Amino acid sequence: MPHQKTVFDTASKASHDYRQSLSARPVMPDAASLARLKTLHGPLPIEGEDEIAVIDRLHDIGSPNTVATTGGRFFGFVVGGALPVSVAASWLASTWDQNAGSWLLSPIAGELEVIAGGWLLELLDLPRDAAFGFVTGATMATYSSLAAARSSLLNRQGYDVKKSGLTNAPRLRVVMSEEIHPTNIAALGYAGIGTDQIEYCPVDDQGRIIPSAMPRLDPLTIVMLQAGNINSGAFDDFETVCEMARAVGAWVHVDGAFGLWARTSQDKAHLTSGIDLADSWSVDGHKWPNLTQDSAVYFCRDSEAVHDVFGVDATYLMKDANRQPNNFTPELSRRARGIEFWAVLKTLGANGVASIVDRSCAHAQHFAEGLRQAGYKILNDVVLNQIVFVADDEAQTRRALKYIQDSGQLWLGPTHWKGHYAMRISVSSAATTEDDVTACLKIMTNAYHESQK
Ligand SMILES: *Cc1c(COP(=O)(O)O)cnc(C)c1O
Repeated sequence: MPHQKTVFDTASKASHDYRQSLSARPVMPDAASLARLKTLHGPLPIEGEDEIAVIDRLHDIGSPNTVATTGGRFFGFVVGGALPVSVAASWLASTWDQNAGSWLLSPIAGELEVIAGGWLLELLDLPRDAAFGFVTGATMATYSSLAAARSSLLNRQGYDVKKSGLTNAPRLRVVMSEEIHPTNIAALGYAGIGTDQIEYCPVDDQGRIIPSAMPRLDPLTIVMLQAGNINSGAFDDFETVCEMARAVGAWVHVDGAFGLWARTSQDKAHLTSGIDLADSWSVDGHKWPNLTQDSAVYFCRDSEAVHDVFGVDATYLMKDANRQPNNFTPELSRRARGIEFWAVLKTLGANGVASIVDRSCAHAQHFAEGLRQAGYKILNDVVLNQIVFVADDEAQTRRALKYIQDSGQLWLGPTHWKGHYAMRISVSSAATTEDDVTACLKIMTNAYHESQK
């Protein structure tokens, strides 16, 4: 029988065409493409259409209206860019359509989570017996960690939050800097911890918490630290703060959304020194190791606290000796994220992950040198993949940014840093090459000259 073209063939060809088109298209959709978004609207279809035609249309209108974050010239946010193997593993996982809630429902998903979790603890050099859960992003990773922190700290006070709720619970305190990524405040809210409970701490010129200026910690305090400031890329002083916290029984959580991966690099690991002394950590898969979106992990030293929060006992879930994925995450039914993690770690190896980090950081150095030569001022110490820079004054910075964005050849965005309106570069995709950096520097150099006119 001749092979009949299926919807999978259509999607596969569209995917190949899309990846091929990346170097020839603008990073952001152009006006003509955006105008075509309107053609997707219309009444609810009463009778369905042919599935191949639907996927064709999705490709025709959808692909030009994506942001080319999987290409090598998007530097706007730390979003990574899916590696081919990430996409391929995610295809297969979607084809399997496994429900990763329980081991029984998907032995392959359950087993790969165990393996990937163990590999990640080793790769990131965190306590090997820490609990871990595969969630959507760093925000939910931090929420999961905070829920465990809350349970653990309150339990130590003899208060069972699972049974009694938060209303009459001893008051928790949170110590962090105003430089913390705003999603951490959202995560605190999901965990029932309000903004009035936050005590902000001063930071230095790179956005690092100043340990000697921290308020007194106590056994009801959660300290939130950062591995990788979203502007400067700076790392907090984990060693000092963790020791202060340990001395009084406070909890330390580390937001390591992208920065925790620095731990895999021989050159950069020193930035994370003492991070293993913390109590919980969040890290994104969809950022530096370049997995597809919707992929993060949290790790928590206190596995009993994790079980206290997420442990679900129901006869129909058929508990057995295997690790039950749903006992570690807020969801029951969910995507089997461990599959892609396993495939990417197997493909890259520890050295391959480190190499993505190292190459991104080398590109950032190259950018910083080129930008200085062009006449820009770099505002941060470029220790990682992040660069914050300005032209001569705010009006010129705004003109330069517009020139860069209008070029369509690369994309980066604005930020506010230490009282300056500035531009920011984040290098986080393995797809970025030296040639990309050189070509982008040319455009940014022209932008500087144009901004002076
Ligand atoms: C991206 C990021 C977050 C939020 O992560 P999501 O995966 O988008 O939920 C939190 N903190 C830092 C430092 C980040 O870079």
